[in-house]
Formats: sequence, structure tokens, C-alpha cells
Amino acid sequence: MPEKTLAAIKVGPSTMDFRELDLPEMSDDTALLKVEVAGVCGTDVSQYRLPLRGGQIIMGHENVGYLAKVGKDFAKRKGVKEGDFVFPEHYVPCGNCEWDHMGEYRHCANTEWFYDPQAIRLGYTSMDVAPGLWGGFSYYLYLPPNAIIHKIPEGLTAVEAGVVTPMSNGVQWALMDGEVKYGTKVLIQGPGQQGLCCTMNSKHAGADLIIVTGTSKDGPRLEVAKAFGADHVIDVQKEDAVARINEITGGEGVDVILDCTSGAGTAPILLGVEAAKRRMATMVMQADEPTFPDFPLGRITRKGMTLKSARGHSYRAVELALHQLASHRFPLELMTTHTFGLKQVDYAIKSVAGDGAAGAIHVSVLPWE
Ligand SMILES: [Zn+2]
Ligand SMILES: [Zn+2]
Repeated sequence: MPEKTLAAIKVGPSTMDFRELDLPEMSDDTALLKVEVAGVCGTDVSQYRLPLRGGQIIMGHENVGYLAKVGKDFAKRKGVKEGDFVFPEHYVPCGNCEWDHMGEYRHCANTEWFYDPQAIRLGYTSMDVAPGLWGGFSYYLYLPPNAIIHKIPEGLTAVEAGVVTPMSNGVQWALMDGEVKYGTKVLIQGPGQQGLCCTMNSKHAGADLIIVTGTSKDGPRLEVAKAFGADHVIDVQKEDAVARINEITGGEGVDVILDCTSGAGTAPILLGVEAAKRRMATMVMQADEPTFPDFPLGRITRKGMTLKSARGHSYRAVELALHQLASHRFPLELMTTHTFGLKQVDYAIKSVAGDGAAGAIHVSVLPWE
């Protein structure tokens, strides 16, 4: 067993440093993950730019790897052993509350890292909280006693398994929250990794119609959306999206709207309200705007719409996502566009932001490359 790890450490806004760190003393109820892949998503883009909230931090919250060291109590409680290929959720829950018993760790007060500097979430908690190795942009990641572990099914490469987080969101938002099913007409806004995963899951669930929107720079992503099952794609900068949706649906509109955009302001919500069918549509929203001037409340209530928030995923959604990935039903390689080594973490995050490697959709950091 090695005694040190190399980690990429965020030391300030958009600034990474690389340091060799001691591996912690392991107790019987903890484990150590040898990180094979740490996926990079839009949250990394926004978080990387922000000032440090507490101490320095090892980012990387979408982690897949092999259990390198497993305490005997951890092994017994989780049903795992050294060498197992696993996905630890980034939520590290209290383990006692009602949400945790339902597998809804995302709602546990213990994972509220944004408000509570002591709350633990893999990839978000600062190194000030011992033992500090909380992120996947590192050779090794520490797993505390209350880590939530999923075993990865046979036949998945590390890079494929690294898509588990957006795929889990796709299951949660499209199928569980949006209730897309056989016969549903769905509008998916934003062809990034989340939107593409919503597309695949909607297709597999039997949606009658899948429309995916993007902007002019999303041309190649919209082509991938078609390969994943989109019936129609719309460039909202070139076309009148409402008119196109009316034309495609014969004026009826859609049953479900999934907002998978980021930084698009209030436009996706306004489009969603117009695209919704006459009564009882559901819209799952990102809502990255703190306020919404002239919110079309009257139109929403007259249409009898249900609004839900896209907020991570449940335990069950992750299990279904792993199952979806392992089926190789969809050409995932169209989405897993880029891999980078640990020293290129900064560039990997910038590539997801659109300021690095061209054509990035899903980007993986492979610490050992
Ligand atoms: Zn993420
Ligand atoms: Zn809890």
C-alpha cells in the first residue's frame, strides 16, 4: 500500500496547485478508493471560478474507481471488498434521517455543503475537514463510514462508468420527476451531458416524441441527440422554437419539459410554458436565476402545470443508470469525447466550459494517465 497521493488542489478562483499528500491512517470503518475516473460537469465549471468558501479543496465529485483499502467494518456494512469496482455517491449522508432511509441522500441536511462548511460532500468539502482527501482529482479518495457505495456492473470501462452521474440525473429528471413514459411527448432543452442522458432514458422509456433544443454552437451535440433518439432538434437562435414545436405537435404541445440548460436565464422556462400542452404538463427546471421578473404565473396556473426542481438523484436512479450504461443500448462513445490526466485538470474544466478542447461533451479526468 502506498503512503502518499498526488492531488490537484484548488487554492483560489480558477487556480490549481499539485501536491503530494500523506494518505490518512485508516480505521476499520473507512475505505480508500483508487480513482480511475473523475467526471467533470457544469457544476465544476461554476464552482472552480468561485473564491474558496473555507480552506483549499480537492474537487472531483463524479468518481469511479477500485477499492484499494477497506476496513473490516466498512467491508461488512457495505458488502464490499478490496478490488471492487465502485461508484461512491458524492452525497455523504447522516444515515439516520428519513430521507436517507428512502435513498434520497441529496435531501439529507448533512450534505448541505453550500450552507454548512462542515457538511461533507465528495468534491466539495474543504481540506480543513480531516482527513482532507474528499475529491476525485487525486490518485486516492477517502471514503468515510457513511459513504454510499454502488457496485459497477460487469462490462463497463472506467470512462463509460464515469457517465453514471449525468445518467443518474437523466433517470431522475426524465423518468422519476418528469414521469416520461410510453407515449409521452417531451421537450428537452440543452443538449449537454444531462440533456443527452435525459434523451436516452426518454427514448428507452417509450416516449412518442422527443424534441431537443440547443443554441448555434450546439450543432454537433444536437447530432448526438439524434443518435440517442431525438426525433427533432431545434436551434433556438436560428428558428422560432415555439412555432416549430407547434408545427411538430400539430398545435398540441408537449406533456413534459426538461430544462437541462445552464446560464440561459429565464428563456428556457418561458419556452417551456409556451411549449406545454393545453393542460397538466410537467416542467422540471434548473432555475439558476435567483429571481424571475414578470414570472408568467397566470399562464402556468391556467395551464394547470406542475413545476419541479432538478436536484441531483436518488439511490434508485443511480442503480437504474448503471443498468442503462451496462446495456450498451446507446452509442455512449459519441458522448465520452475527452479524457485528461491529473495535471490537465484546469484545462479539463475549461473544456467543459467551452474555453478549452473543442467539441467536449463528457470530459473525464483519469488521475493515473
Ligand atoms: Zn456533477
Ligand atoms: Zn440524513
